[in-house]
Order: sequence, then structure tokens, then C-alpha cells
Amino acid sequence: MSADVVVVGAGLTGLAAARHLSIHGVNVEVLEASDHVGGRVHSDHIDGITMDHGFQVYNPSYPEAARVLDHEALDLHPLTPGIGVRLGPNRLARLGDPRRNLILSLGGLGLATGSPLSKAKFARYAISSARAPITELEQRPDMSSLEALKKIGIDSLLLEQVIRPFLTGVFLEQELLTSRRFMDLVLRSFVRGTPSLPSAGMQAIPEQLHRALPSGTVRLNCAVAKVNKKSVTTVNDGRVTAKLVIVATDPLTAQKLVPGVIAPAGRSVTTWYHLADTAPAALAFGDALLIVDGNQNGPVINTVVLTSAVANYANPGQVLVSSSTLGLDVSTQAAQGVRDHLARLYGVSTKGWQQVGVYPIAYALPAMPPPFQFQSPIEIEQVLVAGDHRDSGSIQGAMVSGRRAAQRALELLHLR
Ligand SMILES: Cc1cc2nc3c(=O)[nH]c(=O)nc-3n(C[C@H](O)[C@H](O)[C@H](O)COP(=O)(O)OP(=O)(O)OC[C@H]3O[C@@H](n4cnc5c(N)ncnc54)[C@H](O)[C@@H]3O)c2cc1C
Repeated sequence: MSADVVVVGAGLTGLAAARHLSIHGVNVEVLEASDHVGGRVHSDHIDGITMDHGFQVYNPSYPEAARVLDHEALDLHPLTPGIGVRLGPNRLARLGDPRRNLILSLGGLGLATGSPLSKAKFARYAISSARAPITELEQRPDMSSLEALKKIGIDSLLLEQVIRPFLTGVFLEQELLTSRRFMDLVLRSFVRGTPSLPSAGMQAIPEQLHRALPSGTVRLNCAVAKVNKKSVTTVNDGRVTAKLVIVATDPLTAQKLVPGVIAPAGRSVTTWYHLADTAPAALAFGDALLIVDGNQNGPVINTVVLTSAVANYANPGQVLVSSSTLGLDVSTQAAQGVRDHLARLYGVSTKGWQQVGVYPIAYALPAMPPPFQFQSPIEIEQVLVAGDHRDSGSIQGAMVSGRRAAQRALELLHLR
């Protein structure tokens, strides 16, 4: 079998690359090891409940994704803008819509979470990141996010009670060692757009990309064992020859297939799903507000009542809560720790909550320490290597990477 370009992996990167190539008339074949497209963006639908593989959100302000995806067809439902910070048994403070007035809404948290000056400094920084072109953020002097936040001059109360708990859920690490360039990009997205969920679950995103490809482009259940410059060898279906090969797998597989690739360390996370026997109005002000613990006093890094954003993530009347913890511990003890922490975070009893799913994900995101380069080299050992680990660990990063690899492929095929 042969194609102009063979893409290994039908995650967002591989699908985005295939889309660009087929738009330019290139005959492309995507070989995918699993039985579905989307890779790390995947959803289960069990007994009327939608459970994404890990708490993930799509921000409609991602420029590359917005260019490629049909938002209306995804039927996006925004979470409630802002975050809720649990500061004590009787205090759930609300940081309102950061786009409307970040300074005022940070002020609303009160003095217990840092001085007004510190909040103003952070708000100014976030807004300047939102206004800057992405190319400028990518060039900013790099350092860890923690160093950058200290340099801005924010005080330790604001850092520890609001910013660290919030960023831990984004970076999947608590030390804030992630590059400030990535943090700035995250702040830009949060100020410009509201994280949202497609009504059919996150997997609607890769499925939309898949549907736009000529039929038969993606071959499922077809794992690739070996990659050469002009061919790949599959585990069960023989060899496929091509003029060019794009490896668009997760970083660890990319490293196995192309030894010149150095996979970054991975960040792991576990997401727990509960059906709550509590009226939604009694949880997080009745909103789909992301709740974090300002005292960082428990395993849950963030939690949200999903059905308050998208009712059809569960059956009528059911209240579905998603909560995430760092690491991969899904023991009974860990489950109890999550339940107890949720009781404190929501200020209600969780004894009657029913755990309906738990998803430990070993390699959710690539680590992105400084010095961080958004555009890592993609021509390695005579193949093109793409994936979130070549750009940034996000839906946006994966889709940018897919386009970048496809553009280079078009140049190499003399089609540009
Ligand atoms: C829990 C979690 C939360 C996240 N939260 C967010 C978020 O809120 N916002 C955001 O923007 N991003 C988020 N991300 C990151 C985002 O989902 C990823 O960066 C992106 O999906 C990576 O896409 P990819 O195509 O590069 O890699 P992958 O999705 O890993 O795709 C690689 C594909 O290659 C296939 N493959 C592997 N080996 C082989 C082989 N040998 N042969 C053939 N095929 C193979 C795999 O099956 C897979 O389909 C999150 C990720 C996780 C896991």
C-alpha cells in the first residue's frame, strides 16, 4: 500500500496535519493504533453519562483551533467565567469574570487573599499578556512561572491562595516550574475566552476533524512498529510506503519510533466523576464555576459541576461533578480522600455521592520547563515529528504542530 504522506497517529496533531495536507490535494493516510480518533481527547458515554478522559476544556480563543474548527457545530457550552476559591468552612470566594474587570474581581476576594496592589499588578500582567501578540509571548525572557510571578511583585497570599491553586490544575504540577512563556499564553487564553465543553463531550473535537477528511483516510487499529524515511511497518498490516512520513504520536511513542526524539517528562493526573445527591443550586453558587482550594488542604486540585455547564453530560436530573488529583493513585483510600476534600470544597456532605468513573492518565501533558521553545525542530532522522511536545501541551499546541508539519511536508513535496 502507498500514499503521498503517511501520518502515524490520529490525535489532534495527526488529524490537523491530515486536514491541511488533504486540502492541498495530497493523498494522505493516517494510521492509528487505537480504535478511535482523538488520542488524549476522548470521551466515554456510559449509561447516559459523558466522561471525558481527564478534565479538559476547549478555549474558543485558541487561534489555530478557532481557524480550523466549526464552533457552532460543536455546540460549545462555556463554564462559568472566573474561579471559586475555598478559603474556609464558610467562605467560598468568587473571582468573577476576569475579562470584565480583573482588578475589581480580584478585589472581590478581599484582603485575606493579598493586598490590592498585588492584585492590581497581577491583573495588569494578565491583561498585558492577553493584549500581546502570541509571537511576543513566545520571545519573552524565559524563567519558571514562579519566578515570573515573584518578579511581577505579587505577594505570597495572592500566590498561595489563588494563583498557585489555579495554575496547578493547568500545569499539572504544584511547584510552578513550568515556563512563564506557557503561563503567559494560558493567561492570554483565559482573559480572551471562556473555557467550554462541546455538548457531546470533548471527543466531538477530533471527530469533527475526522469527518472533514476524505473517507478512508484514517485506518484504525493499525499500530505502527517501525518508521523509515519513506515507509512504515505496521504491527499487523504489513508495510505502507510514502514519499514522506509524519510521526504524530504521543512523545513516548515518538521517541521509540524515532530515537532522535527526546520525550519531555510527563505530567500525570487522575479525574474522578461523581453523581451528587445535592441540589446543583447548593454547589458553587449553582454555577459551573471551577473551584480550587485556597488553603491547598487536600488532594483535589480543581473541581466543577459539569452539568451546570452542559446538562446533557448526564441524564435529566443528575448532577455530574468532575474533580482532578495529581498523580495516579486510585486506591480506596485515595477515593475517600477525594470525597472528604469535595465535602470541604463544596461545603456539603458527599457521603451519598456516587463515584461513577475514575480516569488515571499517566502522560497527560509534556513538562514545559524553561527555557521553553514553542517551535521545536520537527525534521528528525529524515522524518517529520509532530505533536504537542513539539509546540505546547494543549489542544492549540497540537493543532499548530499538525499544521507546521503539514506545511513542511508540502514544501518538501514541492507543493508550496
Ligand atoms: C487529562 C488531560 C487534560 C488536558 N487538559 C487540556 C485542556 O484543558 N486544554 C487544552 O488545550 N489541552 C489539554 N490537554 C492537552 C491536550 O489534550 C493534548 O495536548 C493534545 O490532545 C495532544 O494531541 P496529540 O495529537 O499531540 O497527541 P495524542 O493525543 O497523544 O495523540 C497521539 C495518537 O497517536 C496514536 N499512537 C500512539 N502510538 C501509535 C503507534 N505506534 N501507531 C499508530 N498510532 C499510535 C495514539 O493512539 C493517539 O491517538 C489535556 C490532556 C489531558 C490528557
